[in-house]
Amino acid sequence: MTVRYIPLFAALLLTATAAAEPFQAQAKMTDAEAAAALAAFAENLEGRSIVGEPAIVDCKLSGGTKAICFRVTMTPTPTRYQPGPWCPGNIADGSDKSGIWLDKGKVYDADGAFIKNLATFYKDPRWQLFDPATGKIKVTDSKASCAGAARPDVDPKYQNYCVECLPSYLNPQPTLTFVIPARPVKARSTTPLSQFTGAGLALNGVRFDAPAPVGAILDAHTLAPFDDCGGHVNLHVGYHYHAATGCTKEVAQPARHAPMIGMAMDGYGIHTRRNEDGSEPKNLDACRGHNFAGIGYHYHVSEPGANQLIGCFSGEHGCALRLPDQTCDASRSPPRPPRR
Ligand SMILES: [Zn+2]
Ligand SMILES: [Zn+2]
Repeated sequence: MTVRYIPLFAALLLTATAAAEPFQAQAKMTDAEAAAALAAFAENLEGRSIVGEPAIVDCKLSGGTKAICFRVTMTPTPTRYQPGPWCPGNIADGSDKSGIWLDKGKVYDADGAFIKNLATFYKDPRWQLFDPATGKIKVTDSKASCAGAARPDVDPKYQNYCVECLPSYLNPQPTLTFVIPARPVKARSTTPLSQFTGAGLALNGVRFDAPAPVGAILDAHTLAPFDDCGGHVNLHVGYHYHAATGCTKEVAQPARHAPMIGMAMDGYGIHTRRNEDGSEPKNLDACRGHNFAGIGYHYHVSEPGANQLIGCFSGEHGCALRLPDQTCDASRSPPRPPRR
């Protein structure tokens, strides 16, 4: 990958002089403008999650536009709380020992009572995640079992399991390298979110993922709960979010507009669902984006139960890379998507 302009420290020096308007819809930037935009972006990220040095690199966006991108490598470890819990161990366990489940716009505590009631909830008597004699819930309890239960064709022996992968199964934690256009390029048409690129990143460096494949999960009579912060672990990218429930860093905005909580893969900001006065921003498009004076175009997350952070990409997106030195060409299909 061509690194055009590496040092963030040099970029920080430039911010004092360059007007930071990082989210204008144009691909061309001078090195000084790019450096200033990178500094503003990196300033918002939680530093402890950043691996190495954020950089400006050449990239090719999903619509084929050659652009300059931010490249930042992050560990998927939240800095403000401990991830989990996910699956309760027994149907007697309360919501303090379990996470949440999202279904048709609603958030449910995935507690023992919920697990006990699954056959009724989904109107399907084949749901039986627990031992009727003891109340013990079948939970994946090893790296191998979580891999078998989370693969696209669920290993038959893990049907009727509560599926959780613990962060400790991944040592060291995988890093993900986000390559995001320094200035968004509005696309001719919107792009659906994919498992390849996810939706974006939270300011703590945790990936905002594409919607969880709930249909496939439920078809196998498995449940893959999220913790109360809307995150769970897979063996490909580690801890990641399928919902935003207010656990991560927020950056205040002009006019008490909804705070920014992350960045989408197309370079537009991702903001909370509600403004600081509790109202919801109006006139959102299909991607859940709109323009607002002083902020420009940005997205607002859906309600947590929706199983989507944002609706789609309005701009051409960059890449989420497993290897920090890979070149980002988002106009080509990546090799294989991470699951769940
Ligand atoms: Zn807004
Ligand atoms: Zn997931």
